[in-house]
Amino acid sequence: MPIRALPPEVAAQIAAGEVVERPASVVKELLENSLDAGATRIAVSVRQGGVAEISVTDDGGGIPADEVALAFQRHATSKLLTAADLSTVATLGFRGEALPSIAAVSRVTITTRPADAAAGRRCELRYGEMTTADEWGGPPGTTIRVLELFGNLPARRGFLRSAAAETARIQEVVTRSALAWPSVRFSLTADGRPVVDTPGSGRLTEAILSIYGADVAARMLPLSPTDGETSGDGLAADLAISGYVSAPEISRHNRGGITLLVNRRWVLDRALNYAIDQAYQGMLPERRYPIAVIGIALPPERVDVNYHPAKSEVRFRQQPNLFAAVQRAVREALIAHAPARPVSRPLTPAGAGADTQARSDGRPALSPSGSGGAGGPGLATPPSSDHLLLPSALPSEAVPLRQTLESLRVVGQIRQTYVVAEGDGGLFLIDQHAAHERIVYDRIRRQWADRERIAQPLLAPAAAELTYAQQDTLQQYTELLAASGYELEPFGGNGWLLRAVPPQLAAADPIQSLLELLDAVALEQVVMERDDALAATLACHGSVRAGTTLSYDEMTALISQLRETPQPHRCPHGRPTVVHFSQYQLEREFGRR
Ligand code: ADP
Ligand code: MG
Repeated sequence: MPIRALPPEVAAQIAAGEVVERPASVVKELLENSLDAGATRIAVSVRQGGVAEISVTDDGGGIPADEVALAFQRHATSKLLTAADLSTVATLGFRGEALPSIAAVSRVTITTRPADAAAGRRCELRYGEMTTADEWGGPPGTTIRVLELFGNLPARRGFLRSAAAETARIQEVVTRSALAWPSVRFSLTADGRPVVDTPGSGRLTEAILSIYGADVAARMLPLSPTDGETSGDGLAADLAISGYVSAPEISRHNRGGITLLVNRRWVLDRALNYAIDQAYQGMLPERRYPIAVIGIALPPERVDVNYHPAKSEVRFRQQPNLFAAVQRAVREALIAHAPARPVSRPLTPAGAGADTQARSDGRPALSPSGSGGAGGPGLATPPSSDHLLLPSALPSEAVPLRQTLESLRVVGQIRQTYVVAEGDGGLFLIDQHAAHERIVYDRIRRQWADRERIAQPLLAPAAAELTYAQQDTLQQYTELLAASGYELEPFGGNGWLLRAVPPQLAAADPIQSLLELLDAVALEQVVMERDDALAATLACHGSVRAGTTLSYDEMTALISQLRETPQPHRCPHGRPTVVHFSQYQLEREFGRR
């Protein structure tokens, strides 16, 4: 076939497909327009998952009668004048694509009137063609009704899910907007049933209450506002993080309760999700997620919003600092508001005052760090020297950990997490994940140093779609990833073809683990050297998890491999691998001394 320009209606439908994927994308674009128009009240109503009807009414600025036709032309916008404006977009819309795209795949009726105009306008469009345009005398503001969505694209309709599922997505869009704009009153009615109704009081807590209910609202912890003060770590003074996160006693089985807002735009960002996961680490059970509304305010020029057709992915400049700041803000809120945990002194009877006793009998305190102060999180700091300070021994009798490990005899495993062992010095608990991480980490670093490349080819190459952020990370780590066993090649657009994986990751879902790895590395880079970040993340993903039953032989092998590592005390992230209870401690606890 010779090359020909597409007929305009076909080109319009193709372009529309990028913006209008499903009914929820129509709702999203219409809400953005209403918000850009300064609305304080937005009412949405849908029927049959939005396929039969979507209607959005606002009390915003309206469109002058003589500009309505223009609003439905492609790339016509009142929000940008020059290409330079693109780098400082402050409105939600900017491409002038939504209205023409929606109109190209549905029947649209618009009624609109600016408050200061004597008369408004009412227009009907049928699959992009304007069929009527009349004067209109209704109240100021705009109503857009979209009927028969994808009526001219039966194939696209075939991709939609059930009406209930599409309604759920619409509800999600309205909910996120309501959380982003607490001063705007939002309502959603689906098939005549009220689904969302926020007060528009300007207070985020009240929006959260109306969306998630009183139980959740009562357990939300405020992030203390961060602003200018964070400039010390290289962030511009104008970054601000605010919002609410749920206390650890409530959680969800997916991330649906996490709302990330960048300059009030709801975004999906795997690396930011990861930062939140990290902040909750150790506080939530595995695969449980918090409810959170986190607002990030940045100067518009530091965020690229013109990055994704649906504007749901953005790109940050100086992103590692941003992730660290979010993680810190969430962690601080959790710590500041968490009820004081009981101090963990597992082998000391309540009130025994181990520290005082230890001093009176001339022996060192129970834990090398003194076992956490009142109200503290109760985490004992492990010894940092190359020696394990045996609590029963005087410092001069300290025994090297490696030597101690040699003497260990495995007793069993508890909670599928800790290996229990006994040895010359007493009782030992080994965190199986932390210990294995240390072993795998050292193996990876050795492989890199020896330029020894062991890749595990996949039976069939797997294709992955990478976000832009993930591709950035991939680019930075191309050589090290190859050295670790990854074989990747570009596969058109954002696609990559994965042919081989590092052997320690052979058991995992190859694509899933690659994506997780790239997200995790981006964050680890904040706190670690570049190479360390990758080695630690590879080790973490390729190590035996808590919750895995180990055989006696596996536990014995774990201990002897740990003994061979140069730094057996801690995992690459700094957590202790071994905790020790001395003979003396045990005897004293049982009143034998
Ligand atoms: P964009 O939002 O990118 O400018 P759209 O196609 O979504 O493009 O809208 C085109 C124009 O129509 C907007 O720039 C705005 O001037 C006008 N418009 C659309 N919806 C509304 C509304 N609800 N209230 C007032 N003006 C609107
Ligand atoms: Mg728009």
